[in-house]
Amino acid sequence: MGKPNGFLEYKREDNPWRPCQDRILDFQEFKMALRESERREQAARCMNCGVPFCQSAIELKGRVTGCPLHNLIPEWNDEICNRHDRHALSRLLKTNPFPEFTGRVCPALCEKACINGIDGQPVTVHDNELFIIETAWENGWMQPSTPAVRSGKSVAVVGAGPAGLAAAEILNQRGHSVTVFEQKDRAGGLLMYGIPNMKLDKSVVERRIRKMEAEGVRFVFNAMAGRDMTREDLKQDFDAILLACGSRQARDLQIPGRDLAGIHFAVEYLERATRQVLDGTPWIDAWNKDVVIVGGGDTGNDCVGTAVRQGARSVTAIEMMPKLPDQRQPGNPWPEWPNVSKTDYGQQEAIAQYGRDPRLFETTVTEAIGEDGQIEAVRIAKVTFTDGRMQIVEGSEQVIPCDLLLIAAGFTGIEGNLKDTFALETTSRNVIATDGYQTADPQIFAAGDCRRGQSLVVWAISEGTRAARQIDEYLMGYTNIE
Ligand SMILES: Cc1cc2nc3c(=O)[nH]c(=O)nc-3n(C[C@H](O)[C@H](O)[C@H](O)COP(=O)(O)OP(=O)(O)OC[C@H]3O[C@@H](n4cnc5c(N)ncnc54)[C@H](O)[C@@H]3O)c2cc1C
Ligand code: SF4
Repeated sequence: MGKPNGFLEYKREDNPWRPCQDRILDFQEFKMALRESERREQAARCMNCGVPFCQSAIELKGRVTGCPLHNLIPEWNDEICNRHDRHALSRLLKTNPFPEFTGRVCPALCEKACINGIDGQPVTVHDNELFIIETAWENGWMQPSTPAVRSGKSVAVVGAGPAGLAAAEILNQRGHSVTVFEQKDRAGGLLMYGIPNMKLDKSVVERRIRKMEAEGVRFVFNAMAGRDMTREDLKQDFDAILLACGSRQARDLQIPGRDLAGIHFAVEYLERATRQVLDGTPWIDAWNKDVVIVGGGDTGNDCVGTAVRQGARSVTAIEMMPKLPDQRQPGNPWPEWPNVSKTDYGQQEAIAQYGRDPRLFETTVTEAIGEDGQIEAVRIAKVTFTDGRMQIVEGSEQVIPCDLLLIAAGFTGIEGNLKDTFALETTSRNVIATDGYQTADPQIFAAGDCRRGQSLVVWAISEGTRAARQIDEYLMGYTNIE
């Protein structure tokens, strides 16, 4: 423990965010860093608990709290506090190959389980993690390192999202020759073309890819399995194949008027917005439009933040579920996942810009209305749930203006062409069925959202690292990957 009474002496302090009115003017990252001395005080708040729930990843009432990567959190908090930043880095990289991603976008499952969180002031684990890895990049400690010996075995990874990247990193370091096939023009999966630039600057992803390339990982872009190569091609050319293709089938809206122009899936919209930031290519523009987003969750929030930056006239997010309570309820104690309402960055920005929370809870869209093939308004209505069945509240319907409708209603599993290309067995949730991470064809493995369903970056990394272990065992007959 860095400082035995640190948790009594120092209050929790998060990395500050740029003020709303400033950050909505650009797509640069909105989080800033604490001063170094303040960061070390934050690390000193860690109590080095005998049972560190933060690194445990326990499932309570169907939700996991604690880090799925089992990051050695008390150890590196101690190292930060004592200014041993290189030691902190070595402990962090032992469990997490990409802390610069989780340190930016992870919802910090660790902090939900931190014992200091019993009184609402958990250790700033997430920001501490980012401090360690960014200190390392700044000081030139993240140099490429190539394996001393090559195994002579080859692995194809299909999909360059966090799951595929994590597996590629670990299998390459183990000495296997790894080729990553990615259908898009850049690596990162949803890290690149999903999560907006203001949350994760794309240079951070590119920096990591350059390091992996220097270490020997081969990336082939604009290469889609099923179009540019068959299952047989891959089986013949590689000793093992890992599918890390994500769970990208978007849930559609079944409403009259769905075929009007001006209706898009959220990820398509977010991808185009990122391409505009990176390449200047035309986007689906929200400028001067009344934007309605179906879905008040995290993806919906990213759409809100993007539309605000594009200069939308108004932004409304339609959420079917009721608003969660502001405080933990008696039946939801620590260390369970706190079922409380949060007002995320995009929602805060919309409040600052338009003077109201963009979310309408317990509401649904029942019709898209337009003229000359273009959407102009949506009909919305209040809903209630009886025995889990949704019902429209009679007389609650109203029509609101809308010339850009974004669908952020979740995902329904893997894309159809992937299933056909690899003759995959799927589960009732339309994700790839596996034994561990191995499919019915022992040469083919699966990891990340395509196996688990749409989830989180930290889970994708965890799946990628565990799949790498099983692949190594398959290739070598044993494994020394921890
Ligand atoms: C808008 C949005 C915001 C999110 N924000 C967060 C967040 O802030 N924090 C968080 O923890 N999680 C977030 N998530 C969830 C997180 O991004 C995903 O859980 C994670 O990216 C899954 O990783 P993956 O590698 O399994 O799949 P993906 O990231 O989806 O990557 C799959 C890759 O496979 C490629 N691919 C697919 N099919 C083929 C094929 N046939 N051939 C070649 N390549 C193929 C795709 O192009 C893609 O690059 C967000 C999700 C969305 C949609
Ligand atoms: S990866 Fe996520 S859950 Fe794990 S320590 Fe980092 S922020 Fe916490």
